[in-house]
Amino acid sequence: MKFRLRGIRLEKQGGGSDTRPVLSAHDDLAALPLLPPKDVAALAAAGLRSAAAVLDHLPKRYEDRRRFDAFPNQPSPVAVCLRGTVIDAGSRGFGRGRRFFEAVVINHAGDGVFGGGKLTCRWFNMPFIHKLILAGHEVVLYGKVKDVNGRLVIDHPEFEILRDDDEGESIHLERIVPIYRNIAGLAQRRLREIIHLLLLQTDPESLEVATGVPSAESRHQALKAVHFPESMDQVAVARRRFALEEFFALQLNVAWRRVRYHERPGRVLGLKTTLLKRFYQSLPFDLTDAQKRSIKELVVDMRTARPMNRLLQGDVGSGKTFVAMAAMLLAVDSGCQAALMAPTQILAEQHYLTFKRWLEPLGVRMALRTSNREESSHLPLEGEPQVIIGTHALLFDAVAFSDLGLVVIDEQHKFGVAQRAALIRQGVVPDVLVMTATPIPRTLTMTIYGDLDVSLLDEKPAGRGRVVTAVRVAPKQTDVTKFVREQLDAGRQAYLVYPLVEESETLKVESAIEAFDKWRKRLPGHEVGLLHGKLKGDEKEAVMRRFREGEIAALVATTVIEVGVDVPNATLMLLHHAERFGLAQIHQLRGRIGRGGHKGWCILLTDGKNPEALEKLGILERSADGFEIAEADLRLRGPGDVLGTAQSGLADLKFTDFLADTGLLREARALADAVLAEDPELNGSHLGLRGLIVVKDDRDGPQVTA
Ligand code: ADP
Ligand code: MG
Repeated sequence: MKFRLRGIRLEKQGGGSDTRPVLSAHDDLAALPLLPPKDVAALAAAGLRSAAAVLDHLPKRYEDRRRFDAFPNQPSPVAVCLRGTVIDAGSRGFGRGRRFFEAVVINHAGDGVFGGGKLTCRWFNMPFIHKLILAGHEVVLYGKVKDVNGRLVIDHPEFEILRDDDEGESIHLERIVPIYRNIAGLAQRRLREIIHLLLLQTDPESLEVATGVPSAESRHQALKAVHFPESMDQVAVARRRFALEEFFALQLNVAWRRVRYHERPGRVLGLKTTLLKRFYQSLPFDLTDAQKRSIKELVVDMRTARPMNRLLQGDVGSGKTFVAMAAMLLAVDSGCQAALMAPTQILAEQHYLTFKRWLEPLGVRMALRTSNREESSHLPLEGEPQVIIGTHALLFDAVAFSDLGLVVIDEQHKFGVAQRAALIRQGVVPDVLVMTATPIPRTLTMTIYGDLDVSLLDEKPAGRGRVVTAVRVAPKQTDVTKFVREQLDAGRQAYLVYPLVEESETLKVESAIEAFDKWRKRLPGHEVGLLHGKLKGDEKEAVMRRFREGEIAALVATTVIEVGVDVPNATLMLLHHAERFGLAQIHQLRGRIGRGGHKGWCILLTDGKNPEALEKLGILERSADGFEIAEADLRLRGPGDVLGTAQSGLADLKFTDFLADTGLLREARALADAVLAEDPELNGSHLGLRGLIVVKDDRDGPQVTA
């Protein structure tokens, strides 16, 4: 048997008869004499066992090897793709006997004339590299050029060694070349060759699968376009098609679960409104129209027999807590228990205090349950608590509830899918209200929370102090200190926020602990507190309590204060190294101030070294709209950073770059809805799509995504 992989030529139009397909997309590659066993093993180790699977390993980027970048004469923050010749290669030493490998590369077209360009590539801790790169090699390099003591250097470039026969119509040169995520045991070139071969040898018919997405192009054509494109436009079209297929599968699952969840028997709650009316009368303010609207929406849900599954989305300070209280009172009035689950100890504690203040006068029995604290409100009335507030310790205490009718989950995305399901399993399909203060871009809501109905608090209660946000580039510390002191002298309180707990060598970020000492000296006569993630739970609580009670005037803190903390007298927030925070995160943080009637200040301090960061922070100066900011954040940082992919269930998505494409998501959703409307059980005309449903049995309660 002869393996014909080397020097594969591009398929010519109307190519020879030896390109007739010889395998079917789902054949086991190990059973075919097409690839050497070593390659098959490497692919199998990466989970790729069939042509279909290998062809689904899409390029992570492309190099246009028809036009290489000019050889650099200065460092650049943008990666360049170069073609060059190695003129010298060898091992070098640096300090204490440690060694690294270095290759000097000149412009491929170099004619020896001065100014032709020369570059050094370095590899550290890669003992095998000296076997790969030799003087005389022609190479393609990809990486960022920096200046090291006057020399232009690329450390650990991605590289590929060219061969003589690459000239002409090779798949490796003089075309747009795909670059793949590495697969152990397969060189980039080899992988490219295998994929090219499989595209030639796989029967196009066998590649077709039921995706639910109509398309003019065959799957084979689309795969060819994405692996070996003639233009980047071709890539864009093919990738969009694959993204649509992926989102369709996601939406089909979401829609499927939504239908299944609503089919389950829930309970009818909220017919009696005595408590709710008394609650309204006890409030010193009128509810906003948005609050009233949201309460109406959830009353409708609760009164029907199908279980409520609703997301309450509202910017910080929009009054979500009061909507939750209304829902919980309705549950209590119907004779069952209501639970509120908060993401942290501090928040559970704070919710407990707030709820006690409003609900205890109405005669509601309340309890706090967290991992290290249990407390019940003391009432003349005996009996089970009616409203239970806690952290996820609630989840693991199976006897916590005797009759759970409603679960309110605060800050949903901080909980995992499994946790949410676990809590829900405790009751007999209770109504669920999920509250999130993180404004989630509409496109993501559709994807992640697609199985939830959405209520929106898009209006802030009146009488709020205005919050002025200002970016300050490297101001004088004395000016900053003076501003803080003025606020404190006026009786206000301040948050002094830092991005990290401990000094990091590389980031050179002033730590909160270090800052605490400095601020104590800067603010004599005022009590300064310190709050960070490494404090123990009860230490944190003690600090928060002292801040809430006004004993601490200025709180040096890391982002642990991010969610839900409510101290109306705090009017100033100084954010150090603001460029290190995400936009949505800063927006969350500044929601902590201006909660009372006083004017609030959010000062974003930055060194100004990064123009992009300055531009980004400028958005916060201009906009107070959480959704607008979240969308900007999504565009700038991608969905992973915005939500944390693992938690949001987006980890398995390949085409996350399309998540900001509202049109595409809507299209996927519409297609999925249409399919289920036509064939709700997927056992008729769309039977082929049944395989796309990931959770086949949904008794564990609603899930956020597949
Ligand atoms: P969120 O949970 O959405 O961040 P909260 O429910 O904690 O907001 O409300 C923020 C602040 O606004 C609280 O101090 C609360 O007392 C107050 N508040 C809530 N609703 C109203 C309203 N309709 N009118 C005036 N103040 C309100
Ligand atoms: Mg109901």
